[in-house]
Amino acid sequence: MPVLAERLAAVRDRIAQAASLAGRDPAQVRLLAVSKGQPVQALLEATELGQRLFGENYLQEALPKMMALGTRGVEWHFIGPLQSNKARDVARRFDWVHSLDRPKLVELLAKGRPPDRLPLNVLIEVNIDGEAGKAGCEPDAALKLAQLVAAQPTLRLRGLMTIPRPSLSIEAQRKPYRRLHGLYAELIMRGFVLDTLSMGMSADLEAAVAEGAHIVRVGTALFGERT
Ligand SMILES: *Cc1c(COP(=O)(O)O)cnc(C)c1O
Repeated sequence: MPVLAERLAAVRDRIAQAASLAGRDPAQVRLLAVSKGQPVQALLEATELGQRLFGENYLQEALPKMMALGTRGVEWHFIGPLQSNKARDVARRFDWVHSLDRPKLVELLAKGRPPDRLPLNVLIEVNIDGEAGKAGCEPDAALKLAQLVAAQPTLRLRGLMTIPRPSLSIEAQRKPYRRLHGLYAELIMRGFVLDTLSMGMSADLEAAVAEGAHIVRVGTALFGERT
């Protein structure tokens, strides 16, 4: 079996096992293939194996891949740090943005999304362990951002995303994900209609699935090391 097919099967298996351990339906967890640093060929191969969700960190790198994949029913997720001057194009080209972390971006994404299209799906990125100098809003700022996003007809708030500090043990990995889930539950209690927690990567997707992830973002475990 070619290596990508094996890796994809292995990652799907890890998700299924973790979901079943947690008493969750594996169909509740979607696999986002993080294709940054990978050639178009790798994405084409992945679509042939049934993969439909792709995550990219840079607009310039994503555009030619979007051209090449064309009409294969692919869903594009922007997951990288978002510069203000890229927000307009990201809002036009992508289906989802995982990295909204400041008020200015709400306005720019909302204005950039053409009103005749379906609303842009938005996740608020939270710096859940308060690491200095990292992307993501403070947990305390998430409510205000959620209100701003929800007020925009061209945006659809779907939930929260985080990238925690790496830890080795599964217990330690689960803690920040549990906190993000708590924040998500709090927003739902306040009336927001949310359905998506984007959390978990190659090294810790089991911990994220155990804590309720709906999208896991996996790069290295699918495509190997990035060049
Ligand atoms: C690169 C990246 C990933 C994937 O990380 P891997 O460890 O390669 O699975 C996930 N999320 C974000 C935001 C990334 O930038």
